[in-house]
Amino acid sequence: MARVFVASVKSGEAYKDEYRTITPEGDVLWIQARGHLRLDDEGQPVDMIGTVMDITEEKNAHDLIKASEARLQTLAETIPQMAWRTDSVGYAYYFNLNWLKKTGTKLEDNIGTGWTNFVHPDDRAKAIEDWNLAVSGKAEYNTEYRVKMLNGDYRWHIARGVPILDQSGKIIEWIGTTTDVDDQKRARIEYERSVDVSPAILWITGVDGSCSYLSKKWYDFTGQTEAEALGFGWLDATHPDDKKRTEEIYVNANSAQKPFYAEYRLKTKSGDYRWAIDAGNPRYDQDGKYIGYAGTVFDIHDLKIFEEELKDALKARDEFLSIASHELKTPLTSLKIQAQLHQRLVKKNDPGAYSPENVNRIVQLTEKQVSHLTRLVDDMLDVSRIRSGNLNVIREEFDLCDLTKEVIERLKGQFENIAVPLPEVTPCQNTRGNWDKLRLEQVITNLLTNAIRYGKKKPVTVRVEGQNQLVRLTVTDQGIGIAEGAKEKIFDRFERSVDPNEVSGLGLGLFITKQIVKAHNGKVWVESELGKGSTFIVEIPKEEGLS
Ligand code: ADP
Repeated sequence: MARVFVASVKSGEAYKDEYRTITPEGDVLWIQARGHLRLDDEGQPVDMIGTVMDITEEKNAHDLIKASEARLQTLAETIPQMAWRTDSVGYAYYFNLNWLKKTGTKLEDNIGTGWTNFVHPDDRAKAIEDWNLAVSGKAEYNTEYRVKMLNGDYRWHIARGVPILDQSGKIIEWIGTTTDVDDQKRARIEYERSVDVSPAILWITGVDGSCSYLSKKWYDFTGQTEAEALGFGWLDATHPDDKKRTEEIYVNANSAQKPFYAEYRLKTKSGDYRWAIDAGNPRYDQDGKYIGYAGTVFDIHDLKIFEEELKDALKARDEFLSIASHELKTPLTSLKIQAQLHQRLVKKNDPGAYSPENVNRIVQLTEKQVSHLTRLVDDMLDVSRIRSGNLNVIREEFDLCDLTKEVIERLKGQFENIAVPLPEVTPCQNTRGNWDKLRLEQVITNLLTNAIRYGKKKPVTVRVEGQNQLVRLTVTDQGIGIAEGAKEKIFDRFERSVDPNEVSGLGLGLFITKQIVKAHNGKVWVESELGKGSTFIVEIPKEEGLS
């Protein structure tokens, strides 16, 4: 103090000093002294006039701030994270050694908004936007971004910043940390990616049953948003007929804390429904307390449809077996009775047993029943051939009109039996093509015998018309007709739309017909009204390779 005073006197400059003094009570006070020399006319110092002021309080406060600043700085340098400080408007002026070392940058590269250059380009806009939002809203800064490290790799970090306020609540500065969370983040990304590719949808619920998480696949599948699906909104994506049942199963399982299992139809983004299995198991915390479910949803639509088809197919097969055995048995029984009758005559040495009429009758009846049996067995063999994909088409050139006439001729007896005139075939122009003769013979026979069997003994009309590239065969009867819903089905295996006791048949003829027509790249369909007769139409290209 004395030195300062003497220097001021010597130099003539204003005196300014701060020093401590001890009061009679022994307290130490900080004094601020100010003074200036007064000079005489020759410019020689005469005296000094000045003030002394007790500045103990300010001095103590200042020291406190200095000490806290030093502590803050030490803290910022010793924490393992990267740390930074900015002024009140978000202009960065300090980065700790960790930041500089880990990023391999210099302070001057980072100050202001320079730090954003070391944020991954994909994350930069969001990092800046969040920072501006925090600064303008005076809220905490909390964001995630990748930082470019010394070796050039980017690593995920969480950045947190808080405003430091003065007594009046004004922001003095911001202080923040940037913490390396790369390993956790990558593990999470990896996990989410794995969940996303998993064929199942994953979900998690809380203790009250409300859903807190659904994996991405749910949203892709249903088109729901998170806001729509979470909570209990996921139930809205189930089929209206399944919703109540599913909700009941779920709520009951949740209150009983038992495994949950439900099958329901789930609405897809495009609006159709697919069958799904939804199953969850209870979750427990470390103390064994129930905290909700973790579960999965599986699309089982194809399996379910397959199962239903399989059930239908098994049912149809059983029906077929009973019809087939009945069908096979009828000619056999007739043969057997015939044989027994004949045997009796033979035993009785009845000469009539050997009469030409009797032998002729037996031969005719045997032939009729055997050909019926042969047809049944052939049909069955055809079906098994079609099933194993062995329906070969052996092509040769012929006229479909001629073949149709031949078949009609062969069925003469059957038309006579129902007292129906043999159908004429018209118009029969331009009807040559390259097809499998035996197979098309089968098609014509099937359609004609059906017209006889289901035609209520009324006349049948047959047309064979040639067009440019295809030939069309039409068989029309005036019989029982076919119900709307059965028109497609009758072309399926074992399908019959009439009472099995009414008209006999295996339900294979139209199935085989359709397969033969398909093998020729053609089409077959029926136009019919119940009770008003049916028209079966076959269209086949004249040559292979046309359709
Ligand atoms: P099947 O006659 O041996 O039962 P098909 O495959 O030939 O087997 O016919 C399947 C079913 O289609 C028949 O059972 C019958 O219900 C129906 N159907 C076929 N042709 C006619 C027709 N011309 N009129 C009415 N129904 C028919």
